[in-house]
Amino acid sequence: MNEHDVLHHIASNLSERNSSAALSNYEVLSNNIKYVNELLKFAIHSIGGIHGAVTHAMDDPSNLNNDFKNAGPLAPFPRIVPRVIANGLVILEKFAQQTEPDERSGVTIDNVSRLQKGFMDYSSLVTTTRQVVDSLTSDSYQLVLLDPRSFNYHVLVSLNSFDKYVTPSIRQALFNKDISEALAEFRRIPFNKWANSSVTQCSHSSFADKVDFLFSRLNPPPELGFADQLKDLFKFSSEFTHIGYVSTFFSSSPGTEVVFGDDIGPYLPSTENFSELKYQLLQTITRFIARVYAPCISHAIQTMMPQASAKGFSDSLASLTNDIEARLKTRNNQYYFFIKKGLIGTDANIELPCMCGATKKWTVPQDKGDLFCRNCGSHLNLLEVEGDGGYIITSGGPVKIIGSVVRRNLTNNER
Ligand SMILES: [Zn+2]
Repeated sequence: MNEHDVLHHIASNLSERNSSAALSNYEVLSNNIKYVNELLKFAIHSIGGIHGAVTHAMDDPSNLNNDFKNAGPLAPFPRIVPRVIANGLVILEKFAQQTEPDERSGVTIDNVSRLQKGFMDYSSLVTTTRQVVDSLTSDSYQLVLLDPRSFNYHVLVSLNSFDKYVTPSIRQALFNKDISEALAEFRRIPFNKWANSSVTQCSHSSFADKVDFLFSRLNPPPELGFADQLKDLFKFSSEFTHIGYVSTFFSSSPGTEVVFGDDIGPYLPSTENFSELKYQLLQTITRFIARVYAPCISHAIQTMMPQASAKGFSDSLASLTNDIEARLKTRNNQYYFFIKKGLIGTDANIELPCMCGATKKWTVPQDKGDLFCRNCGSHLNLLEVEGDGGYIITSGGPVKIIGSVVRRNLTNNER
């Protein structure tokens, strides 16, 4: 292809948009969005509680290591760290608010357009995601380093930009004499020395560098594939935030929308596409909290506090991480059920109790394509068992064979 061929190909694609349906079931997506959004809010609430308790504990010098006590060289950090975490919680709350499930009650064919998603929706959601992943990665980096020059760089670069255009009244309300002097000192440093001066330092300037650094410092290290996922999210969200050609075209062309419907009511392909992206972003950010952000908060606490004071907080953060990972795994999972041979194909209505708490009623005609849970998107696999046995003993305990006749004296692990 020459340059004109390439330009022709681009022109045809940017002017004709297919009406595209998402690859997942909208009802399942909405249920999973609700579930992960609630999990995210639980994580924010938990970190908020730990933040309050840590802030209080650090008021007492006996809970601080010597370097962080009043006479120590790192004494400002017990005041700085709570502020950094509080900033992180604010941006996470914004993200949680923007990733709530669609409100479908009262939606009819006549007003289904209220579910339509376009440029404003995509731009707000992805820009907020970009803010979360960017600022929490920077915060995590500072929490792991707790280094004066690196923190000075982080704040002074931000302050320098803010000061360029801020109104006099905000400047007066926000800037005290100390910070003005610090900014004046920073402005005396030539631009090419900002990243390595006597008062400032930045060894990992890009997002990717910070992610790699964090993954090398966390113990246990998060799985490496997740670092690539974060870098990909950063690039993807930059494309939206900086109004890239492709993202703007995709989200701003209305296209023809066919009205879909399910048991709850009508919806549009754009609603479903948007939900797919929302769900993927929710999963990545919630995993990011579990795998990176919470462990970095824990790292800072363990650096600043003696072991006896830090342990309760770091244990709580570790258990939050485990809790998030375990709960995320219950979505879109594979579950296996033992079923008495011969039952499939009869007119029996088979009940499959999913691990998420919902019961799938697999009714006649039993369609194998319908073997998934509408509540959590998990696939339900059936393993046929011959003979008259009532239970199969698994590593998780005894499991009832569906369709078998047994005395009901096994509880707990019975499904
Ligand atoms: Zn389920």
